[in-house]
Amino acid sequence: MKHRRAVYPGSFDPVTNGHVDIIRRASALFDELVVAVLLNRGKTPLFSTEERLDMLRKSVAGWRNVRVDSFSGLMVDYMRKNDMAVAIRGLRAVSDLEYEFQLAHTNRTLYPEMETVFLMPGENYVYLTSTTVREVASLGGELGTQVPRHVSLALRKKFSEKK
Ligand code: ADP
Repeated sequence: MKHRRAVYPGSFDPVTNGHVDIIRRASALFDELVVAVLLNRGKTPLFSTEERLDMLRKSVAGWRNVRVDSFSGLMVDYMRKNDMAVAIRGLRAVSDLEYEFQLAHTNRTLYPEMETVFLMPGENYVYLTSTTVREVASLGGELGTQVPRHVSLALRKKFSEKK
């Protein structure tokens, strides 16, 4: 099977410019890229599913071969159902490797026909995580080039509501 449709799964709480960098690279490699929000993470996200999907939609509006979706349950079940054989993951630094390898091997055991493709972000995004973005925003810090502008506005709104 030719790997023309890929999925990029994540919690995207919220989407950062690091995610957008990976989306840009993956969209150039595959005919179709689906950015999929994972719904069954243990912890309660800062942004609702709809808010996360909305921020992603705005962030990928420039690419015609990228769309946004969400799923719950096992990623491999979602992939099988949607005829996807490639999962994209971003690797920031060696520290990501251990966890990503575990995940990739587990997924491959469950769905032997799939491949995980790791992409490296631009160097500006190597230390960027959604967790630090949420922390900085909660303390009123400037996010500058770390997130799209509409995301920094959404973060400001979210934390002013919480006060
Ligand atoms: P995080 O790991 O920041 O909580 P996600 O769960 O949404 O974010 O991550 C989805 C995927 O995107 C993972 O493969 C993660 O390693 C990758 N990723 C997250 N931030 C970056 C970044 N700044 N550069 C490259 N990849 C990233």
